Amino acid sequence: MPPVASPESRVLSIDDSVLIHRLLKAHLRHERVELHCALNGADGLRMAKALNPDAVLLDVDMPDLDGFAVLSALKAEAVTQHIPVILVSGSCTTDDRVRGLDLGAVDFVVKPFEIAELKARVRSALRTTRLIKLLAQRAQIDGLTGLWNRTYFDERLAQELASAERHGDNVALVLCDIDHFKAVNDKFGHPVGDLVLEEFARVLSGSRITDITCRYGGEEFGMIIPRADAAQGAIAAERLRAAVERFEWPDRPSLRVTASFGVADRVVAGSFVPSEVVAAADRALYLAKQTGRNRVCRDGELVTTSLRTAG
Ligand SMILES: [Mg+2]
Repeated sequence: MPPVASPESRVLSIDDSVLIHRLLKAHLRHERVELHCALNGADGLRMAKALNPDAVLLDVDMPDLDGFAVLSALKAEAVTQHIPVILVSGSCTTDDRVRGLDLGAVDFVVKPFEIAELKARVRSALRTTRLIKLLAQRAQIDGLTGLWNRTYFDERLAQELASAERHGDNVALVLCDIDHFKAVNDKFGHPVGDLVLEEFARVLSGSRITDITCRYGGEEFGMIIPRADAAQGAIAAERLRAAVERFEWPDRPSLRVTASFGVADRVVAGSFVPSEVVAAADRALYLAKQTGRNRVCRDGELVTTSLRTAG
């Protein structure tokens, strides 16, 4: 299941004044904020990239790299451009304010500032960050099942395969498809079909095999298992297949639901390219469907099948 955001917020202060840092430390102590400090622009940029803070307090007047230069650099980098920046300056000219806001700052505070006002502005910037994160996460969550959606699946599979390539690891991919789902919809109606999808998603995510369980589309689901091979993926898939088969559907004693599973890994696929790993798992899933459903297939071979269907 998608993770819940942590309540602790990270704030990075970039200011050449040690006094300002001391003041912020003293006053932000009770705000559930983890404060990090940089004494110059170059260190500030480095820390912003490493820490991915929820807000940056940025001094305009610094030697070498001034606040405007740091702000431009933050906004030019994909990893830091979303971080809200509050500019802090000794100057309160309209030109400076306009320049700062045009460069992408969310707020502008003039020194000497009232600490209560600064805290309120930090809280406001953190609220914005939380909302942006929430929206970004919502855009990656499937509305019916609460699992990750296809957009997230594609991104995450690419990330995991890239990381596996760097570290010489394997990645297993399990694709599964509910058997005869159209017949469920036809016989019981679409509301029951939706309930089946929801419960099915709960069985998959309740297994704790991986945090990366996605609704791949329609009645098809995908599970990415980092640092596992297809054999381990197939063992996990068999646990799920059995759990789905013995699931008692509330208020629907006549309902029987089964699912077919196809498992591959990047070694089986012979590639770190996401589409090729998906294609390998898809071939295994197709074989599971062709040979009778309610079974797990990997590398073009049947791994397990239900006693009930086999017998
Ligand atoms: Mg300064």
